[in-house]
Amino acid sequence: MTHSSEPVDRLEKILSRMEVAATRSGREPGEVTLVAVSKKYSPEDVCALVEGGQRIFGESRVQEALSKIPLCPGRLEWHFIGHLQKNKIRKAIGSFALFHGVDSLDLARDIDRIAEEEGQRPKVLLEVNTSGESSKFGFSPEALEAGMEELLAFNRLEIRGLMTMAPAVPDPELARPFFALLRQTRDHLESRFGAGLPELSMGMSGDFAVAIEEGSTMVRIGTALFGDRAA
Ligand SMILES: *Cc1c(COP(=O)(O)O)cnc(C)c1O
Repeated sequence: MTHSSEPVDRLEKILSRMEVAATRSGREPGEVTLVAVSKKYSPEDVCALVEGGQRIFGESRVQEALSKIPLCPGRLEWHFIGHLQKNKIRKAIGSFALFHGVDSLDLARDIDRIAEEEGQRPKVLLEVNTSGESSKFGFSPEALEAGMEELLAFNRLEIRGLMTMAPAVPDPELARPFFALLRQTRDHLESRFGAGLPELSMGMSGDFAVAIEEGSTMVRIGTALFGDRAA
């Protein structure tokens, strides 16, 4: 009998905690997807989780991701979860199944234009700065509402939903209002603009259970899966 590896143990533990959080809040476990955040981890670390059945990985730097992706064989799905610099759009556009961090109208406009030129139809999430912290990227809820009509009119962008990062807080309960605000913002935009925004990307290693209780459909988890990142 072989012992399962440490990464696979951690993966199974996270998946079961996700399931518990979903069930506790009356949701189906299958409604919540795990994005394993592999930034700063090696292709070997990725492969170890693939062994355990994980297929979706998130990266926050274009260069790092594009060199890592070819070293991780298998039918994997890569998400871009960081702030996308304009000069990296063309390089990145064909390599990611979902861009989580579209954080301004300007960036959306540029992605749409480059997608047209490259014959791509990128799927994106709009990042909302739910805490109002100046250190965070993203639309304020008001700016997003003001820009929504233009965003929905882009030909190439497929807007799938919203994303947020809660502030780092000592107790995950304290992150709850920010997740609730993202869900309320989504509900409001859907009813005002008749848009379908099914995905809510929210929740990380320290706060994913609370995010799931508040309606998250995608949690982005790094350290709790891979262990502490090398500094
Ligand atoms: C790094 C990162 C995560 C994962 O954070 P952990 O605390 O390691 O789980 C999630 N989302 C974004 C946008 C990140 O940059």
